[in-house]
Amino acid sequence: MDKEFSHIISKWYSQNKRDLPWRNTRDPFRIWLSEIILQQTRVAQGLSYYLSFVNEFETVHDLAEANEETILKLWQGLGYYSRARNLHFTANHISKELNGEFPKNFKGLLELKGVGLYTAAAVASFCYDEKVAVLDGNVFRVLSRVFGVDEPINTSPGEKIFRELSTELLPSTEVSTYNQGIMEFGALQCTPKNPDCEPCPLNTRCDALRTKRVKDLPVKVKKTKVIELHMSFLVLITGKETVLRKRVGKGVWQNLYEFPSFVGSSSEDSKNDLGLFVSDAGLDVNSLEYVSASYKHLLSHRKIHAQFFVYRVEEIPSLLKRNTVVFEDLLGLPIHRLIEKFISDSPGFFKLDVKS
Ligand code: SF4
Repeated sequence: MDKEFSHIISKWYSQNKRDLPWRNTRDPFRIWLSEIILQQTRVAQGLSYYLSFVNEFETVHDLAEANEETILKLWQGLGYYSRARNLHFTANHISKELNGEFPKNFKGLLELKGVGLYTAAAVASFCYDEKVAVLDGNVFRVLSRVFGVDEPINTSPGEKIFRELSTELLPSTEVSTYNQGIMEFGALQCTPKNPDCEPCPLNTRCDALRTKRVKDLPVKVKKTKVIELHMSFLVLITGKETVLRKRVGKGVWQNLYEFPSFVGSSSEDSKNDLGLFVSDAGLDVNSLEYVSASYKHLLSHRKIHAQFFVYRVEEIPSLLKRNTVVFEDLLGLPIHRLIEKFISDSPGFFKLDVKS
């Protein structure tokens, strides 16, 4: 069965794969870039990000030499900005310390910052055909269904079982085709909802189909509790400028720009802090022009409820003067998704023509 399994997957792949730019190359720079992007998003959306990056940076040296704001701007909308920062760090390391050469095997790749087991396996097998298995959400799903494995995929013992199984199943040649094949098979054929079982080439061997457990596999244990946070954003506008601050300190939004924000465990708390700041800054409370509806935003372990308070003022108060940004520059700065959503919902405040 093991040999047949990899053979069926590779054959299916050659007949069904999508034609994607990172599949027509063995350049580790491009494959690494595509994999980092695809960890964040689906192929359809990731494609435009990938094309923007390779358009801007032809080689790892070009990426290394870029400034961080350019990279964050290109990354904008993908979330997990630490990955974009790691991308930059690693490009620098490869460009300067390794003379622009990517490590040529799984072990060496794993030493790069931001490169975990999955990415190292993907680059090593796709570029160099190294016999190492990739294990992502698609692969977990296919293996758990075909082989009827009901160990939770997000626990260490469960992961160990899947890692061993995926390694056993590797073919002895053309690992690149097989690894890409099983991921593509999970993405297109054995999808999370409504997998296409009837014409599936594995349907006579699929344990989940035989035992009517397709909907129940793979098994996942419940995640940690999500914390709810409330944020109030102070949007100050004159006829031509506003105020944006760069977030410093560790966090998912590190080095991204946003309107001054006030965080609390309730919406009252965050609004009160904003109110105190407004009076400390000497702003006229009557200059409050607009209060947005509540925006909801999900991060990995946080649910954020945000509101935007727009104050129209004659002049930016001295306290915030150094954070002044003219409207035309607003969209050129790396901003996080919540800020982007508000600006695109209310372009009139900033005299912008935004199509979202
Ligand atoms: S038969 Fe259905 S569940 Fe089983 S591998 Fe094929 S698509 Fe997936």
